[in-house]
Amino acid sequence: MHVLLVALLTASLAAQTPRYDLLIAGGTLIDGSGAARRRADVAVKDGRIVAIGILPRASARETIDATGLVVAPGFIDVHTHADAVADTPRAENFVRMGVTSIVAGNCGGSALDVGEALTAIRQTGISVNYATLIGHNTVRTAVMGSADRDPTLGELAKMKSLVWRAMADGAVGFSTGLQYVPGTYARLPEIIELARVAGNAGGLYASHMRNEGTELDNAIAETIRVGDLVGCRVQISHLKVDSPNRWGASASALALIDAARARGVDVEADQYAYTAASSTLGIRFPAWALAGGQAAVAGRLNDPAAWARIKTEMQALLAERGLADLSFAVVAMHAADPALNGLSMKQVAAKRKGADTPDAQLEAARDMMLAGGASMVYHFMSDGDVERIMRHPHVGVASDSSVLMPGEGAPHPRGYGNNVRVLGEYVRTRRVISLEEAIRKMTSLPAKHFKFQGRGLIQEGYAADITIFDPATVGDTATFEKPHAFAAGVPHVLVNGVAVVRNGQHTGARPGQILTAPAGAK
Ligand SMILES: [Zn+2]
Repeated sequence: MHVLLVALLTASLAAQTPRYDLLIAGGTLIDGSGAARRRADVAVKDGRIVAIGILPRASARETIDATGLVVAPGFIDVHTHADAVADTPRAENFVRMGVTSIVAGNCGGSALDVGEALTAIRQTGISVNYATLIGHNTVRTAVMGSADRDPTLGELAKMKSLVWRAMADGAVGFSTGLQYVPGTYARLPEIIELARVAGNAGGLYASHMRNEGTELDNAIAETIRVGDLVGCRVQISHLKVDSPNRWGASASALALIDAARARGVDVEADQYAYTAASSTLGIRFPAWALAGGQAAVAGRLNDPAAWARIKTEMQALLAERGLADLSFAVVAMHAADPALNGLSMKQVAAKRKGADTPDAQLEAARDMMLAGGASMVYHFMSDGDVERIMRHPHVGVASDSSVLMPGEGAPHPRGYGNNVRVLGEYVRTRRVISLEEAIRKMTSLPAKHFKFQGRGLIQEGYAADITIFDPATVGDTATFEKPHAFAAGVPHVLVNGVAVVRNGQHTGARPGQILTAPAGAK
């Protein structure tokens, strides 16, 4: 009698309080480790993964039917420019392509006061998990403006203290952008001094290198040297070969990475899956012409002798890369005249100068710099290099994008499509890598390198960052012509156990957390 009563009570209690908050049932699990796919359900409770296996459907408050779908860890995008995420908290272009964690502060540009920036993000609440690096260009500008020289000892000490403070406030490392002003004026000893501050605080060194084409091997060697001397982890950002004259050089670049890893330098890289890059218009100008602020730059561009010299150097820089003119360059966003967005510099020259010759294109570029510059899309890579880099086991997948606003400008489509383009185009269509390997490159590989503990795998105890996609239809729909188009084939995305995408729509939820590296990480 008593035994029966207890059994009945237990059964009714169990029916009233399900064991799990959420059950993802019937799906194919790809756990992020690179292991082969298997049939398994995943149970979530209190934001964490608590059970994996064949689980009873009645055990959860809510069930997602994942029949025919792949269940994977949420994608971690370690190379973004989503520094303004507090103003754009939905981060919809990211979550719709399965990204659940982003790292900002890349290419040398970040918030100067990392503590204040992270507090603003915590107060607003955002849809993705977020971490930031402290940027070298940001720190150098704060101390030295855009001066084209070495820092004094006092200036170097100031920069070190700014990096130290950012690390204490939660930055996960130090980034450089050595093709940009003012990072381009910095020499290696300065970078080593600053990377050492970040490294001693458990951070990594991430670099947009000094050169990505004509001097690619030297630039990689310089980046790895920081790892050799400081002993910190190194991340080579958006690895590519950006000069037709050097197409194929990815082989020697990857060999340098392998050699460094073999002698103990923990260096990895990331890439986006496109043969076009995106950057500033200014990057096409000689660095010396951009020193000293906008007034000084305008002075040079308006001085006939100086402009003649700049133009000659620009032509030489193009020729050195194997480029005849600026027709590979397309305007992404020119605030002074948005009518130019989406036009190639050849088209801009025809429109503005009445001729599309190489000289007219350079003249049009000068006018645009005087009007405040522009962000650009540059078509100058090869499929062969993109695919070879993708096959390398220590290269992850990262977008290089900011949070995008539908309809604003003509941005590079990677911000809407990068992860799903890898899954659709490079896995399903071209068969460059396996689906399991692609998922590993988007999850456990970056999580380990950035020391995001408890993320990047579908494993009991891990955070329930989960992306559920259809392997038959997942893909990018954003193109260079029509970039504002969300990913296809990603019906459900969870961040810390909360749905941010459900049935292909953003739920508005903001469950994202700030990610930091554990103290003492190396
Ligand atoms: Zn960059």
